[in-house]
Amino acid sequence: MAHVKLHIPGPVEVSDKTFRAFSSPMIGHRGQGFKDLYAKIQPQLQTLLGTRQLVYLSTSSAWGVMEGAIRNLVTKKVLCCMCGAFSDKWLDVSRRCGKAADGLQAEWGSPISAAAIDAKLATGEFDALTLIHNETSTGVMSPLAEIAALKRKYPDVMFIVDAVSSLSAVPMDFDSLGIDVLLAGTQKAFAMPPGLAVFTCSPATLAKAATVKDRGYYFDFVEFQKNAEGQMTPSTPSIGHVYALASKLEDFFAEGLSARYDRHLNLARLTRGWAAKHGFTLFPEAGFESVTLTCVNNGAKPGGRVVDTGKLQKLVKDQGFLIDGGYGKIKGTTFRLSSMGDETEATMNQLYAALDQAMKQL
Ligand SMILES: *Cc1c(COP(=O)(O)O)cnc(C)c1O
Repeated sequence: MAHVKLHIPGPVEVSDKTFRAFSSPMIGHRGQGFKDLYAKIQPQLQTLLGTRQLVYLSTSSAWGVMEGAIRNLVTKKVLCCMCGAFSDKWLDVSRRCGKAADGLQAEWGSPISAAAIDAKLATGEFDALTLIHNETSTGVMSPLAEIAALKRKYPDVMFIVDAVSSLSAVPMDFDSLGIDVLLAGTQKAFAMPPGLAVFTCSPATLAKAATVKDRGYYFDFVEFQKNAEGQMTPSTPSIGHVYALASKLEDFFAEGLSARYDRHLNLARLTRGWAAKHGFTLFPEAGFESVTLTCVNNGAKPGGRVVDTGKLQKLVKDQGFLIDGGYGKIKGTTFRLSSMGDETEATMNQLYAALDQAMKQL
């Protein structure tokens, strides 16, 4: 059957070059070949995340590291900043890990505000907070720098940030933000096959984790640090993913990071333009729209055009493109168009043409 091209917000299309790297001949994960591979990509990862700390490789989806962060760092209570399906879920996951947890709920479509976090942290109840930079379900980007600035006021609170669907599409500067954990899965903006996450930790994170009991083994941050110092991972990684990551990083730096960031912003603007041209409004509050995906309002909020999401999806799929029909409680009343990964103006124009064609039949 013909391949339907993915324009859902993860996983996204994977290039032939990445797949070729992914299927490199196997090597041992304790041998020099692996250490050289990890040593080669380490400085590139550090540049991408804006850090002098070591960047770790986790063979898991993002949730593995998200849950790990809770297990490694929460001893008192965690504040989960919630504004969509992924960030809302983090509260549930924290409680399933047996931790005391409280939610700070923003309306879906709105970002998390630094002032609201400040008011919560002022109670002194919390020793950690979770934040999703780019809430993929609603297409909203929260103001990370403004929120991270609170770290100076609350140095003992561990700031855990999920940049799963934004890392590599927007500039990231872990060290100057002063946050404690930054993580991303690589099947979204990196355009790799699912199954690998990258993350980094502040020195304060490692110091705190070392004092926390029951952090387990697979996601023990102290183990990740100890192993990364020797260019290794705690357990056998998906070595194919590490080759694919090396290939991807080569692509990022060949393009140039700032050209890459500009490309994503441009594609997001074009996609918003497509929506406006057809009379749709956007689901995110103005000024907080994601640059990797566009969440189009289709009845979730008043205003703008409304079409049958299922029909739109089908008409587009018949032309070879998969788009998303909304996630969680806004399924059907929004739809999402991804411009993550390797997409260019030329490839996005093909999607817009298919969408235009579909709209004629709605
Ligand atoms: C996709 C996504 C996740 C979950 O990632 P998995 O790889 O499925 O674990 C978490 N957070 C955000 C923001 C996401 O977009």
